[in-house]
Amino acid sequence: MNYEQFFADRISDLHREGRYRIFADLERQAGAFPMAKNYRDGKVQDVTVWCSNDYLGMGQHPIVLEAMCEAVQRCGAGAGGTRNISGTNHYHVLLEEELASWNRKEAALLFNSGYVANQTTLMTLGNQIPGLHIFSDSLNHNSMIEGIRQGKAIRHIFKHNDVKDLDRLMSAVDRDAPKLVAFESVYSMDGDIAPLADICDVAEKHGALTYCDEVHACGMYGVKGSGVCERDGVLDRITIVQGTLAKAVGVVGGYIAASRALTDFIRSFGPGFIFSSALPPAIAAGALASIRHLKEHNEIRIRHQERANTLKSRLAAAGIPALPSVCHIVPVMVGDAVLCKQASDDLMRRHNIYVQPINYPTVPKGSERLRITPTPLHDDAMLERLMVALTDVWGRLGIRKAA
Ligand SMILES: *Cc1c(COP(=O)(O)O)cnc(C)c1O
Repeated sequence: MNYEQFFADRISDLHREGRYRIFADLERQAGAFPMAKNYRDGKVQDVTVWCSNDYLGMGQHPIVLEAMCEAVQRCGAGAGGTRNISGTNHYHVLLEEELASWNRKEAALLFNSGYVANQTTLMTLGNQIPGLHIFSDSLNHNSMIEGIRQGKAIRHIFKHNDVKDLDRLMSAVDRDAPKLVAFESVYSMDGDIAPLADICDVAEKHGALTYCDEVHACGMYGVKGSGVCERDGVLDRITIVQGTLAKAVGVVGGYIAASRALTDFIRSFGPGFIFSSALPPAIAAGALASIRHLKEHNEIRIRHQERANTLKSRLAAAGIPALPSVCHIVPVMVGDAVLCKQASDDLMRRHNIYVQPINYPTVPKGSERLRITPTPLHDDAMLERLMVALTDVWGRLGIRKAA
């Protein structure tokens, strides 16, 4: 086999379909959020970032940076091992306690990413619970899909956010078989939110465990900010809450929060937890400071929602087609891979605005979009410049407007 030719051909296919991924080469500017330097074609340009998952700007918050610097000075760079072999630092222990109490659970477990948290937890449950059936929302994130696939559980996919379909599928399975329902709270590509209480009703009716990915909600919903499960008053009905420390919390890492026995079980049997070196202590210290701050500052979340709502109404007034998002994510539809990339390029080149195009396979073909994520730190002047830029690009490229 000509291996090199094989790789090159597969890449050519991506180019031909207009979905070859080019990463913006950025240098974020601590203290000037959401500004960054963009390195392109040997030049450097100042851009306003409108697509970051650092949803609240916590990745540059002085409290977080101070905690991280202090921990580096105190403990050094790396953790020095897996959690079992010398890698558990006191910051990990404090952070796990904080995550447990934030999510009103007995215990929590840290992972090196939200991805690994989903993959390891779901795979381990699938491999260890004999005859487990997992019911998975059709739009679940790749990390959940992979975790479910890699385990031995019997898989069922229910229609997105459709509790009738979930109930129908669950009713077809033996009453006494162990079951788990896996879903997200906020779905980050369309900006819709799961009917959590209804899902819990169905899960309870069938005696199932519930698993909720709060990656796009933790830090941002509920008075204490732990997520939509808190906001909707269903935390005690969710068996396992999963989240990330890399989005609104602003650092990196993932977690689950659950009962003491379940958490200890994943700690003891989950390969992606056991066989990987622990997060650096400074990362745990930064995440801890960030969560403690977010818990006590609900006004950040109020401002965040206000910014998103203001952007949504400005877009509607300008005829720029946004999906009817019910959260902080504002997907603006283009519907064509090449046009979507062109729109993003024009925003960057002509307007110093960075919004990454979102193409297949992240979203279905024909639903290519610009996914805009306003934060509490995007001020009115930035919003005004974004509207001018979008209006210009929509006109210039002849992209379809809203009816
Ligand atoms: C980003 C994401 C993850 C993975 O979290 P990381 O901490 O970035 O690895 C998991 N679930 C969903 C829904 C995500 O969007």
